[in-house]
Parts: sequence; structure tokens; C-alpha cells
Amino acid sequence: GAHRRISILGSTGSIGVNTLDVLAQLGGRDAFDLVAITGNSNVELLARQAQDFGARMAVTADDANYVALKDALAGTGIMAAAGREALLEAASADADWVMAAIVGTAGLAPTLAAARRGADIALANKECLVSAGDLFVTAVADGGGRLIPVDSEHSAIFQSLEDDQHHAVERIVLTASGGPFRTWSREQMADVTVEIAKAHPNWSMGLKISIGSASMFNKALEMIEAKHLFNLRPDQIEVIVHPQSIIHSMVGYTDGSVIAQLGAPDMRTAIGYALAYPDRPKLNVDRLDFAKLARLDFEAPDEVRFPALRLARMALERGGVQGAVMNAAEEVAFQAFCDGRIGFLSMADIAEGVMEAMTGHPTATTIDAVFAADTEARRRAAELISKKEMAA
Ligand code: NDP
Ligand code: MG
Repeated sequence: GAHRRISILGSTGSIGVNTLDVLAQLGGRDAFDLVAITGNSNVELLARQAQDFGARMAVTADDANYVALKDALAGTGIMAAAGREALLEAASADADWVMAAIVGTAGLAPTLAAARRGADIALANKECLVSAGDLFVTAVADGGGRLIPVDSEHSAIFQSLEDDQHHAVERIVLTASGGPFRTWSREQMADVTVEIAKAHPNWSMGLKISIGSASMFNKALEMIEAKHLFNLRPDQIEVIVHPQSIIHSMVGYTDGSVIAQLGAPDMRTAIGYALAYPDRPKLNVDRLDFAKLARLDFEAPDEVRFPALRLARMALERGGVQGAVMNAAEEVAFQAFCDGRIGFLSMADIAEGVMEAMTGHPTATTIDAVFAADTEARRRAAELISKKEMAA
């Protein structure tokens, strides 16, 4: 019928599950055609989602999970596939709207494929913009689809931007909760485990972004994401710590006005907005009770305790492939932290070391140049991690 065709890259993750919840609230399989959903390790959930929503195709990025997925979907008529090529095919299928919710740089190639084919891209996978920047924005524009932010801060800015007032935007203010270590000293942060670092005070999210909230590396990524989404100069991008996570971000205009978007810390609002844009959906999410909230607090961010913010400024000012380099190095460092190989504070040291070693790189004019910088940054990060381990 005339149902909207939807695909979800990363349906088994935190954003993916929330996206399916929003689709269910808005009519589920009676209202949408689910073209393709993709996951990686969680085959059981992927198969269940595919059946619940009547997906045409379910794809696991991991070849090793092919048989398990195929068995789980036997007799359902749902196509099962696995591996990198299958993931790209799923991304290129004929959906009108694609939720990009794979975590990390692994999402770049499939999201690019969806963009080039012309789907509207609801972008949660911020690493696409951090790594490929304007190349990614151009790919979406060339494909003819829209780029709609899902990251709550960027959705807030998107919602606070009047179409005919872009020229009057002076600055944007990204809010940051400050994470679980907002009031901790560097000495206290030095010895924290993954278990402690992943416990976010307000939002429930995947592991990578939860750790990134604790180190504020997530905010660093979001600063670069904002630059490319809204075509801003580095000096127009501010960060303010706002522990309640009620104001999701703000836009400051030339007349001194500041427009903000507020809501409960629930990703379904941003996902629903991206789905219904330019309309608004009716969603069953918590409403704000201002009398109960009583107050909203703000603090200046501390770039000494949270050096990721300083690295983001560096990447913004240097431009070129520094975003890709910072992101790739930090992905490797994040994995090493999760594996217990390096301490929490070492993640920023590794990222900075790799960025400093790769300042001479030319501006990337092709996606292949981005991937090359990504590969080199990963190799250098792995070397720095080994050195740190040997020194410890
Ligand atoms: P999760 O870790 O919860 O989910 C990640 C998804 O990607 C899962 O479906 C996972 O599959 C899949 N995946 C993991 N590795 C690969 C790979 N190598 N190839 C293909 N697919 C893979 O992450 P989140 O949902 O938290 O985050 C997704 C993106 O959205 C990130 O970029 C994050 O920064 C962004 N975001 C998330 C927010 C949140 O509230 N969670 C808020 C704002 C942005 P499986 O689980 O089956 O292994
Ligand atoms: Mg965010």
C-alpha cells in the first residue's frame, strides 16, 4: 500500500529498540512497511523484531551469526542475510526513511549507501558526521534525501531553528549532563572501572555512548556533529553543563533571544520528531512537571578534568581529517579501556597523541581518504596503547 517504507540500521541497540517502540506507538505494521533491520551480535532479538514487525529482511553484520539467524527465521518468509555486503545491500534497499543507529565508524559505509540511494536519513550514528563531515552531508544532498538529526541535542537545535532565520543564528549551546563524574577529581577518575563509568545519571543508552558521557567524549563528538549539521564556525559552538538534562540544547540569535527545546530525557521524542518531521507525532512519553522539577542548573564545563572537549576544539579548528582521526583513536582507546588494558583517563591521552601525530594530513576530499586516515589512526592508537601497557 502507500505505507511509509522504513529501515533501521542497528535495530537491536538502544536507539533501534526505541525506534521500534515509536513505530509501534504510531501504528506498527499497520502503518509502516519495515524493509530491512540490521544487528550484529544479538540474533535472537533481531529475529524477534523482524517477526513482530513483519520486516522484509533481517541482516546481521557478523558472518558467524548467519546460521543462527537463518534458523530463527525459518518458515517466516523473512529474508535472512549476514556480512558486510549484505549490510550494504540492506542499507541500499528501497526505504523512504532510514534510521542510522549502528554504533561507531562501522555505521559509516552502510549509512552512506542509504544516503546515496536517496533515503531520508534519521541520524543517531553521529560518528558518520564526525569522521566524514561535509562529505557525508554532500552524499545525503546528492542522494536527494533529508538529513534529520536524532541525537537529542541536535534534534533540539533543529527544532529551535526557524527555516528563514539561519542568517540570524549567533551561536548554539549544547547541553551536557556532565555524566557520573561531573563532580569528581581527576585523581578519583583515574581508577574507575567500566561498571562505574557506564552508569549514566539521566539517560539509558548503549555502552559506547555511556562511557562517552562519563569522559565527555560524547560531547566532543557532538560539537563536531553540530558543526557539520548546521554549518557553523567553531567559535559558534558552546557547551554548558546542565545536570538535569531537561533542556536538550539551545540556539542563540542576533537579537539576544535564546530558543531551547525541553523534554524528559527520553530518546523517543527525538526519534518521533525525525520520523514525523515536519509534523509532530503523538507519543506516550513522560510530560515535564515544572513544579516538581523546581530548578534547572548550569555550570561551565571543565576542560582540564574533561580533556575531550579541548580535543574537539582542536579538531574543529584544524579541520581536515582530524575529526576522523580523533574518533578512530578514541574508538580503539575505548575498547582498550573496556578490556582493562588502560585507565579511564588514558583514553583522552591516546586520542590526543594520535591527533598530534597526524596533523600533517591533507584535507579529505574523498571518503577513501577518510577511511585511510581512520585506518592509520587505529594503528597508531594501538601502538600507543601497547607502549602504555609496557610502561605500566
Ligand atoms: P548500542 O550499542 O545500544 O547499539 C548499537 C547497534 O549497532 C546494535 O544494533 C548493534 O548490534 C549494532 N552494531 C554493533 N557493532 C556493529 C558492527 N560492527 N557492524 C554493524 N552493526 C553493529 O548503541 P546505541 O543505540 O546507544 O547508539 C547507536 C548510535 O546512536 C551511536 O552512534 C550513538 O552515539 C548514537 N546515539 C545514541 C543515543 C542513545 O540514547 N543510546 C543517543 C544519541 C545518539 P548488536 O546489538 O546486535 O550487537
Ligand atoms: Mg546526545
